[in-house]
Amino acid sequence: MLDKSKHAPGYGSEKTHKQLKIRAHHLCCIQGFQGYGYSPAFVANMRTVISDIKAFPSRPIKLVSECDAICISCPSNRECSTLRSAYSHKIKNMDLVLMEKLNIEEGTVIKAEEAFRLINSKLNNASDIEDVCQICKWKKKCLWYMQTAR
Ligand code: SF4
Ligand code: SF4
Repeated sequence: MLDKSKHAPGYGSEKTHKQLKIRAHHLCCIQGFQGYGYSPAFVANMRTVISDIKAFPSRPIKLVSECDAICISCPSNRECSTLRSAYSHKIKNMDLVLMEKLNIEEGTVIKAEEAFRLINSKLNNASDIEDVCQICKWKKKCLWYMQTAR
């Protein structure tokens, strides 16, 4: 059982229902995370975000297509935040494609558990998954991708 006292500082408590800003496609990545990542700091932060959401599944999530609570500890943060970078456009497109498939507008606030349920009910074939995951280099390490893109 998860120890609710261990959620990270800054993420608030269930009572405060602090909103988390999350890139849309990261809601897929969160479900496939197995401990791999871009750096130790990235992995540690990813674990913190995931623990928080697991402890408080009704946490409000604001869906975005820009730097989020996960990107903040990523070594590629700068590249992904630079609007003129081709890479940043590709990553942003992954968020936009997912939100389009969910029929949800950017900026929508939704409970984490509802967002996961929606994603897993609407993206149920290999073609949908490929449309979202596009250029990701973690496909061979991602449980969500491996389980759904069959
Ligand atoms: S394959 Fe990549 S983009 Fe797709 S859910 Fe997994 S980590 Fe995220
Ligand atoms: S690669 Fe870009 S989108 Fe992915 S976590 Fe790092 S900064 Fe965020």
